[in-house]
Amino acid sequence: MNEEKTEEIYALLGKLEVDKVGVASLDDLPGTEIREKATRLLPGASSIIVLALEVFQEVVSHIASRVWVGEMALRDLYLKNTELVGGLLNWEAYQLVKGLHNNGFKGLPLPDGGVFDERFLEGEISFKHVAQAAGLGIFDWHSMLIMPEYGSRVRFACVVTDAPLASTPVIEMGNPCIKCQGACVRVCPVRAIGKPEEGETYHVDKYACNTYYAGVGLCSECLKVCPAGREQQCGHEVLQNLMERALS
Ligand code: SF4
Ligand code: SF4
Repeated sequence: MNEEKTEEIYALLGKLEVDKVGVASLDDLPGTEIREKATRLLPGASSIIVLALEVFQEVVSHIASRVWVGEMALRDLYLKNTELVGGLLNWEAYQLVKGLHNNGFKGLPLPDGGVFDERFLEGEISFKHVAQAAGLGIFDWHSMLIMPEYGSRVRFACVVTDAPLASTPVIEMGNPCIKCQGACVRVCPVRAIGKPEEGETYHVDKYACNTYYAGVGLCSECLKVCPAGREQQCGHEVLQNLMERALS
């Protein structure tokens, strides 16, 4: 790809209205499932662009797995907000592919949530693993991707393209799970999360999680208690801290 074209593609990425953009070059992923699946989806694929948007902490704080029948369920705010965030991501992925086409490249948008195989509870391409390969974050104990700014309150969409882009640099960050030592493990109603053993990144029974989640309509209690990415405190937390300080 010549220099002018490269600049045009990076200008496109810079215009995307998302919180973070990363690139995983398939050249850097030889022999991996991501590379094999990407080239199956788009023959000639060269890289995957991943777009990320946060779900606000104010919304996450209303997550609840238990509701009373007939009661107004504030947890629906989470579902509606994730739909909104997903829609925004999908729009930006669509616009990006338009731009790639205008520059003579192919692009396959993979919308928020992706294509899911219910039998094995696996996406066609794991967005979390693409985001990790693009250097956006690290895996945590509840098998989500933690980003320094937002913790795991993040949703992703991807674009597979034949534009030969370089991988974005890996973000340096510590692992918040080491300090936390398992708030998610303790809160999980079905003990689906365990402390990772030697050599494991995470230890999650996804079938137990999925059964419970589907049965009650929403869970994500593990996300709600996760302290990672809470620096941008929501209103009532700020107020609570101010009151505690005033009363001390
Ligand atoms: S709750 Fe704690 S242990 Fe679990 S993912 Fe978040 S930081 Fe890691
Ligand atoms: S979503 Fe709920 S059931 Fe699944 S791992 Fe998290 S806390 Fe456990």
